[in-house]
Amino acid sequence: MSLKTPEQYRESLRDGRVNFMYGERIEDVTTHQEFKVPLETASQDYDYESPGMRDIRTYTTDDGTEAHRVFQIPRTEEDLHKRLEMMRNTSILGGTTAVYMALMNARGQLGQVNSQYADNVESVYGLARDNDLRAVEAITDAKGDRGRRPVDQDDLDLYTRIVERRDDGIVVRGAKLHITAACLAHDIVVMPTKAMGPGEEDFSVSFSIPVNTPGVKIINQTYAHPDMSTFDYPLSAAHNMPEGFIIFDDVFVPWERVFLAGEHELAGVFAHALGLWERIGGLVAMVERSKLLVGIAQLLAEYHGISKAGHIVEKTTELIFYAELLRMTLDNSLRNYQTTEDGMVYPSPLEINVGKYYGASNWHGMVRHIHDISGGIVVTLPSEADLRNEETEGYLRKYLYTKSEVDVEDRMRLINLIRDLTADAYGGWELVTTIQAGGGLAAQRIVTYRSYDLEDAKQVARDAAGISS
Ligand SMILES: Cc1cc2nc3c(=O)[nH]c(=O)nc-3n(C[C@H](O)[C@H](O)[C@H](O)COP(=O)(O)OP(=O)(O)OC[C@H]3O[C@@H](n4cnc5c(N)ncnc54)[C@H](O)[C@@H]3O)c2cc1C
Repeated sequence: MSLKTPEQYRESLRDGRVNFMYGERIEDVTTHQEFKVPLETASQDYDYESPGMRDIRTYTTDDGTEAHRVFQIPRTEEDLHKRLEMMRNTSILGGTTAVYMALMNARGQLGQVNSQYADNVESVYGLARDNDLRAVEAITDAKGDRGRRPVDQDDLDLYTRIVERRDDGIVVRGAKLHITAACLAHDIVVMPTKAMGPGEEDFSVSFSIPVNTPGVKIINQTYAHPDMSTFDYPLSAAHNMPEGFIIFDDVFVPWERVFLAGEHELAGVFAHALGLWERIGGLVAMVERSKLLVGIAQLLAEYHGISKAGHIVEKTTELIFYAELLRMTLDNSLRNYQTTEDGMVYPSPLEINVGKYYGASNWHGMVRHIHDISGGIVVTLPSEADLRNEETEGYLRKYLYTKSEVDVEDRMRLINLIRDLTADAYGGWELVTTIQAGGGLAAQRIVTYRSYDLEDAKQVARDAAGISS
């Protein structure tokens, strides 16, 4: 019943979990080379001792115990601000653990249909909080033919489903795809991928299970490799987290860990609640990254002697518009927070979805500005090894020189950052992830349309047209 140390966290992952990567069965994720960087990243969330971290990362629960702030149910706008500060200092695994906030958001609605589900949410959340556990959000199904309903698929397992109901629980079969950090979490929180209808009771299933539950298998993929140089790959080499293709091969889930088992009318509640908390994380990250783009553009333009050129100033200003609109949207979402019936405070879904959509749908255009400013060197710069080779170092220092106040190594580092962020390992992943993670653009359009006060807008139109009825 306490906070874990980084070492206790690593030890807790030696639990017989079944992982695969690049055709190999991984016996122990804590010692395998491929997981070295992700494990280090995730372990840092358990560092409560570095200066300032205890305050940023912990809070005091109603029981008087200390817990990670990711479990704090926000009750005020200030709590939301503290949560955002924590998120800026947390790995993506800490981010996915916000799945418990989504469950707590949905709890009230679940309780109206089955009080046991609401009690289960509460107890699973309490268990995770008191044992300093991390969880992943497993919502995206394989989905097969997108044009057909789950019941109409050639293989019914293409949507995760209940295959057996027993006195003591349910047996589940299916797969959840693209699940961030699954290999390094303690719990997998499973939710229906979308709203379900009559006849889709078996697909209307939500639960939480430990990663080492018999029948759970994870196939991992990543854009980064353990031997990347931090000079050539400043982002990918230092921060990466595998995505897991999780298989549920007839997995038994006891009733006390089930949040939904057949009530199709509630299936959509999860997607809605999770979408909000996922997109809060996405928007926070975009605010940080958009400022980084502005800094990169200005610094490189100065290094290259083009910072005063009209078209460069224009592009940098476009990047500032992007960064500022994202920042203001996030700020506004906190100011216009909403409150659940039991007093939980959450950022305004309208602003969060508008911000996430705007950020995602304009990222590629902002990257274009960066590439325009940078020049071709972004993808052709020789590597650190060539800089350290005495036969070639002199040529690099001579021909990568721009002016006396710019160190050639600094210029190389900045160019490597641009390539890694926008045109290589992390950057390639990011180009897709920015569009898809958090539910895809279509999901953000739907929530935005539903959240906007259309009645008020119609009244504005009536007034303008002189319509009195
Ligand atoms: C790096 C990364 C990390 C992720 N992490 C997680 C995670 O931790 N947990 C998790 O659960 N998910 C995660 N996701 C999954 C993400 O939420 C999905 O990729 C996203 O919801 C889109 O689903 P999909 O990939 O199956 O694409 P699809 O659903 O196939 O979408 C592709 C296109 O098809 C369209 N489409 C699909 N169905 C229909 C239809 N019936 N009618 C009309 N158009 C349709 C979509 O609108 C979209 O334009 C992650 C994704 C990425 C890339």
